Amino acid sequence: MESSAAFWSLVTRASEIYWTRRAGISAVNAARRRRFDALVAHARAHSPFYRASYRGLPTSGLSPSDLPVVTKSTLMANFDAWVTDPKVRLRDVARFLGDHDHVGELYLDRYLVWKSSGSTGTPGIYVQDADAVATYDALVTAQLDNRGWDAQAVWRTVSEGGRAALIAATGDHFASIASWRRVCRAHPWRSARSFSVLEPLPGLVAALNAYQPAFVASYPTLLQLLAEEQHAKRLRINPVALWSGGERLTAAMRATVESAFGCPVANEYGASECLSIAYGCREGWLHVNADWVLLEAVDRDYAPVAAGEVSHTVLLTNLANRVQPLLRYDLGDSIVVKPEPCACGNLLPAIQVEGRCDDVVTLRASDGRVVRLPPMALTTVVEESANVHRFQIVQNAADRLHLRLEHGPERDRAWAAASAALQAYLAEAMLPNVHVTLSPEAPIADPRSGKLREVIVALQGSSSLPRD
Ligand SMILES: [Zn+2]
Repeated sequence: MESSAAFWSLVTRASEIYWTRRAGISAVNAARRRRFDALVAHARAHSPFYRASYRGLPTSGLSPSDLPVVTKSTLMANFDAWVTDPKVRLRDVARFLGDHDHVGELYLDRYLVWKSSGSTGTPGIYVQDADAVATYDALVTAQLDNRGWDAQAVWRTVSEGGRAALIAATGDHFASIASWRRVCRAHPWRSARSFSVLEPLPGLVAALNAYQPAFVASYPTLLQLLAEEQHAKRLRINPVALWSGGERLTAAMRATVESAFGCPVANEYGASECLSIAYGCREGWLHVNADWVLLEAVDRDYAPVAAGEVSHTVLLTNLANRVQPLLRYDLGDSIVVKPEPCACGNLLPAIQVEGRCDDVVTLRASDGRVVRLPPMALTTVVEESANVHRFQIVQNAADRLHLRLEHGPERDRAWAAASAALQAYLAEAMLPNVHVTLSPEAPIADPRSGKLREVIVALQGSSSLPRD
């Protein structure tokens, strides 16, 4: 029941996206404008927060720049007035999210909910309606088409018994695992499995060899580690497509991954606030889903930044989700808008996202073996154990990690929990010899981008560590 309705709304939305984009950039801009007007009207009619916030503004004909900017902390502090369905209450959603047995199940029988992870300060709670979920799915499908793949062949492989694997942080209600579990139930895949990013690499390689997925989705750094395993012939899988998200995929990483597996890798720029904001092209740019998303590159004072310049932050308007409207939301990422058309031929606006590029950590075991760890595994261990959202892991020797934590009353408790969990994780990865110490420093933002990188490799003289 749910699955066939969801399937048809995906098909409808996917064909709408296809025809709008085929009609050219002016049709895309017109669709965005129409959806923007409709979302503003909906927010004013049904969200007490936006109604109060927009009081005094003209009733129609508003431009995005007429609207005030909203932040996560303001919205979370006004959660019950922010949502447009009065049945959605922060207390209930928080209780729903507290139960880890129901990740990806529907809240109030109709909403998908998840919380944000990462070093973004205030944790956010996001509620998505059925239309938003269908739109995210359709945007992924449109992306497969746009990359010049035989998208139908990919879907056929998956639906006719091909297996799909997601490797992610699976222990809590995060956007990737919640939407994955939902997709697995809604689509006629014979088999789909999720694997924890915390699984040590040899175990993960063995599990993937046994499972033989046709489709693998994960973080770019994890796909890079798997590519090295495939190259060394320890991993032996034959996927028809790969998907990456959550971190920056560099051109070098893409080349490594595509040549190791002999298939294309789709790359998505998404967030808990909007699963599909932009998608990667051959030229190394990300093309904004400008029919469903409005992105504004702005400076510290929320004034527009010229194309070609690095923004301080970016304002996101998500036109797909009505239940929890995001209009000019300070997303926190720095972006650069490409001033000239992209050489790939895609007319959608092209951007680069600065930051979101943590380092793979290469450590040495006591017997001399080299063990590489995905940054997402280390950050997940710290977040889940210590429940902190602002920290930094710095590697400064082959067998040493420093943890930087904020100064304050929670520091001792967070350190005790995080150090124990990190030591346990390292022991499981055959690295019990690695020392984890508390740095006297608080986390330090990157001086260039102003953003906090969570995992940094800073080896003196970048000496003694072979790549493999
Ligand atoms: Zn391009």
